[in-house]
Amino acid sequence: MHPRKSITKHMPKVTLRNSSIHNAGIFADEHIAEGTRIIQYVGEKITAKEAERRKDAQLENHRNDQDNGAVYIFELNKRYCIDGNVSYNTARHINHSCDPNAETDVIRGKIWIIAIKDIKAGEEITYNYGYDFDENYKDHPCRCGAANCMSFIVHYDFWPQLQKALKSNNK
Ligand SMILES: [Zn+2]
Repeated sequence: MHPRKSITKHMPKVTLRNSSIHNAGIFADEHIAEGTRIIQYVGEKITAKEAERRKDAQLENHRNDQDNGAVYIFELNKRYCIDGNVSYNTARHINHSCDPNAETDVIRGKIWIIAIKDIKAGEEITYNYGYDFDENYKDHPCRCGAANCMSFIVHYDFWPQLQKALKSNNK
């Protein structure tokens, strides 16, 4: 183990600015190599029970105001979650994409946004929000613009179900 290494390691520079996907987004200021930890997703550590309560409240806010991001709660483990709906969490501005260039990962109790591709300077950083597929999927339309955009923000695992639902709606 080299715990010091990750602390002193260079973190790529990113900027918050207007995004064509939704409101504001986070953009790379420099080339970011695949596998790089881009930014930590920080927030308030809460219990899983408290997280359930807040999730409902956050979804309700989102329903009333689409500009309000949907859910900022991340599962750390079975007992604890991080509520990233705090001003000091820059990573909360990262947009969802159906063809993202980053993903989230929990490493030693911390949530990181990690590049899954080489990211060019100026490119917007995105990840798949990983929402469950349930009756409320229409509350989360996607405008990511990717060729494979599913039109709604849903975790990859549920794409077959989403496709089925969209097909039957169009009949
Ligand atoms: Zn999309």
